[in-house]
Order: sequence, then C-alpha cells, then structure tokens
Amino acid sequence: MRDVIILGSGPAGLTAGVYAARAHLTPLIVDGHEPGGQLTLTTMVENFPGFPEGLLGPDLIRSMRRQAERFGAEFRQGAVTAVELGRPPFRITIDGMVEECRALIIATGASAKMLGLPSERQLIGHGVSTCATCDGFFFQDQEVMVVGGGDSALEEALFLTKFAKRVTLIHRRDKLRASKIMQEKAFANPKIAFLWDSAPEEIRDVMQQKVTAVRVRNLKTGAVTDRAVDGIFVAIGHTPNTAVFQGLLEMDAVGYITTHDGTKTSVPGVFAAGDVQDHVYRQAITAAGSGCMAAIDAERFLEHGGSGD
Ligand SMILES: Cc1cc2nc3c(=O)[nH]c(=O)nc-3n(C[C@H](O)[C@H](O)[C@H](O)COP(=O)(O)OP(=O)(O)OC[C@H]3O[C@@H](n4cnc5c(N)ncnc54)[C@H](O)[C@@H]3O)c2cc1C
Repeated sequence: MRDVIILGSGPAGLTAGVYAARAHLTPLIVDGHEPGGQLTLTTMVENFPGFPEGLLGPDLIRSMRRQAERFGAEFRQGAVTAVELGRPPFRITIDGMVEECRALIIATGASAKMLGLPSERQLIGHGVSTCATCDGFFFQDQEVMVVGGGDSALEEALFLTKFAKRVTLIHRRDKLRASKIMQEKAFANPKIAFLWDSAPEEIRDVMQQKVTAVRVRNLKTGAVTDRAVDGIFVAIGHTPNTAVFQGLLEMDAVGYITTHDGTKTSVPGVFAAGDVQDHVYRQAITAAGSGCMAAIDAERFLEHGGSGD
C-alpha cells in the first residue's frame, strides 16, 4: 500500500513528485505512453522562469525528474488501464499490475489533436506547433499558417499577429465555427488572411528539419498548391487523457476533470493537476504549479487520516 501514486510524468506529475517525495510520502510516478509528457516533443522553452537563456524541453523534464528521484520518488513505466476509486485505498492497474494507494494525483495531461500527416510529427518543435503562447515569439516578422475554424484557432491566429508578418487561417469549410465576436475580430485584423474549403496535405521540409511550405488541397476543386510559410499552428482542439476515469470522476463536457478548492476532484483523496484539468492556460509553469498544489492537498488529506477536513 502506497501513500501516493501520481499518474503522469509531465511538469505537473514531476512537480507533485518533488513535493510528495520531500514530504516523505515516497510517491510512485507512473510514466504512461509519453514519459516526460508534452515538453519532450518540443525544442526551446523560453518562458519557464529561472532560465533566462531558455532551455530544451527534454532537458527541463530530465532535471525535474532527477529532482524528484533525488528525494525518493519512484518511477514505473507503463500506462494505467483501469482504476477503482470507490473509496481509499484506490486500486490502480498499471499494464496488468495492481497497486494500491491512499491518495491519488492524476496528472495525465491533454493531447493536442493533430492532422495525422506523416511530416507533422517529425517537424513538431521545428516549425509545427500546437501552442501560440509557447511558440509565437519565434515567428517575428515571418509567415505562419493556423489550421482550424473554432474559437481557439482564432485566438491563436489573433495572438500570432503580434509577431508574424502574416497569418493565414486555413479551414476545411467556407465558414467558421467560432463565436461571432471572435470572427469579427479576426476579419477586422489586416494581418489575417483566410484560405477556405482547404486542408493541409503535407508539411515541408523534413529533410531540412524546418517548415518551409505547406501543400494545400482545395477540398472543393481538388487543386493542390504549395504555400510558403515558416510555421504552422494546428489548432483543432485537445483531448484530455481521461478515458480511464470516465464515469468515476466529475468532468466537463469535453472530458477535463473538474476540480474545486485547489486540486480536489469529486472523489475525496483523488486530486488532479496540470492540463488534465485546465483547458485555459495549458503551460508548463501552470501545470507545475498545480502539481505542487496537488501534492500539498494530498499530504493534508493523509495527515487528516484520509478525510481531508
Ligand atoms: C510542442 C509543444 C510545445 C510546448 N511548448 C511550451 C513552452 O514553450 N512553454 C510552456 O510553458 N508550455 C509549452 N507547452 C505546453 C506544456 O508542454 C504543457 O502545458 C505541459 O506539458 C502540461 O503538463 P502536464 O504535466 O499537465 O501534462 P503532460 O506534459 O501532457 O504529461 C502527461 C503525462 O501523463 C501521462 N499519461 C497519459 N495517460 C496516462 C495513463 N493512462 N496512465 C499513465 N500515465 C498517463 C503521459 O505519458 C505523460 O507522462 C508545449 C506543448 C507542446 C505540445
């Protein structure tokens, strides 16, 4: 029986691990299919405080992991495939092996929906992005494309106009899904151009390890053209990694875990941190901050004999 199990080893899970380990709770951190989480997909991170020159995402994660290990956190490879959250002890199945814990921290993140193009994965962090707040700054006076037609695509496009010379929004239909007010803002912005009834078919240039152009197909005429751009932002939504908790915890309509009073979920003793419960900020620092909160909340819950009062 463990005091704390932490699901996920992104910034939220690792920060929870540092705090829980320093509180002598010897947490078990479960890696999942993406050890280190989303930051392992990127190159330069320039907005994590404490690193004025920036650092590589995988290096930041390696340091956090070493820090958690230094205080006694244990790591387990594998993904959680089933959970029993009726009441503590909670039973967690990790690739067929069952572990029990008195408190559980869920930090399983959210995955950006991708286009599914072969070049897209290879160029992520090299001109392909899913986060304008994270990467917009790298595209000063350059040409970028944003894929999507909802509010978040327009938010990304409008934010990118602060840096880019031109932002082309590409959408598979001839009208946007976004709210009227966002549409009005986007249409009024002279830096935003629209490419209707179209979808990216390929991103170039994998050989050069940078984005140089997007091959675009017009879905009505079938015509294919190459558009020269320096970056492409995929903004077609995120999927929170919560399938395994469906029906066991309160979630919003999309599947993000609902938290209250810090990181508490609808089940006492189960806490959620990072992108799995945050569809607004989605940053490494906010994920890390809520990981810290979850560890403190879990520690208090255990101190009060598992009641949390
Ligand atoms: C390309 C890219 C660039 C980015 N750049 C920046 C940046 O410059 N600055 C910034 O602040 N933010 C950036 N972000 C956002 C940042 O990476 C996320 O906000 C942050 O990683 C969220 O942390 P998290 O710990 O909540 O989740 P994640 O990092 O998503 O980690 C989730 C963890 O949960 C695990 N997991 C999932 N399902 C299961 C399961 N069933 N069982 C066990 N484990 C599971 C995964 O394997 C993973 O280890 C970027 C994101 C991307 C994709």
